[in-house]
Amino acid sequence: MRTKIIAGNWKMNKTLSESITLASGIVNGLNNINTKAEVIICPPFTSLETVNSLIKNSKVKLGAQNMHFEDHGAFTGEISAAMLKSVGCEFVILGHSERRHIFMEPDEMINKKIKKALGSNLKPVFCIGETLEERESNSTFKVLETQVRNGLANVTGSELLNIIIAYEPVWAIGTGKTATPEQAQEVHQFLRNLISQMFSEESSKIVRILYGGSVKPSNAESLLSKEDIDGALVGGACLQAESFLQIISVVN
Ligand code: PEP
Repeated sequence: MRTKIIAGNWKMNKTLSESITLASGIVNGLNNINTKAEVIICPPFTSLETVNSLIKNSKVKLGAQNMHFEDHGAFTGEISAAMLKSVGCEFVILGHSERRHIFMEPDEMINKKIKKALGSNLKPVFCIGETLEERESNSTFKVLETQVRNGLANVTGSELLNIIIAYEPVWAIGTGKTATPEQAQEVHQFLRNLISQMFSEESSKIVRILYGGSVKPSNAESLLSKEDIDGALVGGACLQAESFLQIISVVN
């Protein structure tokens, strides 16, 4: 049985005081709901340390939204794995489509980040996804296979167990459009088979594959009921404690 994960990507939202309000709301709300979900929140860098202290005695875990692959040096504006570890991060989102498309991060850079995170005891939440154009030209599987093979190049079978994959169709992120549960399941099954080919059948049964793209309380249950969907990476709906908690409570 794979434990389901509900992860919240706060993106470039929430000042420090707003972060305190949101994290406290999630921690307090979790006391009142029954859930089997593993809960991860990924606030902006400026809130990580404070949020870490707020979630200390709760079941909420901390993740960052990005990091650099070098240890230190002249990389103005960047953050290292050790810096994230020093403020309590256990996870880091890598390869998010906004990093790929707005900041032009190629697969090779994402692979370097994944390797650095793994070597630093941080668990990557490795995001992949096709654009609308790619889906409409029937290249979804080819695009995803390339992203997975390149992103996970030189990753060992035991390292894979510390990676969470997040399938996030670009056309569904922040657009209000969601993949149907059937569309998402089809891709998740494809990804699990791919992992089986690249690593082993055993690994493919253990690795968690999340769906992301306009997940909200009204569609979470149908998506999460699918066999190969092991949770959700949530953007917009994680910015209010109430809607995030509603999604978490689906996992029971
Ligand atoms: C995301 O950015 O990872 C995401 C899934 O966003 P949203 O839920 O807003 O589509």
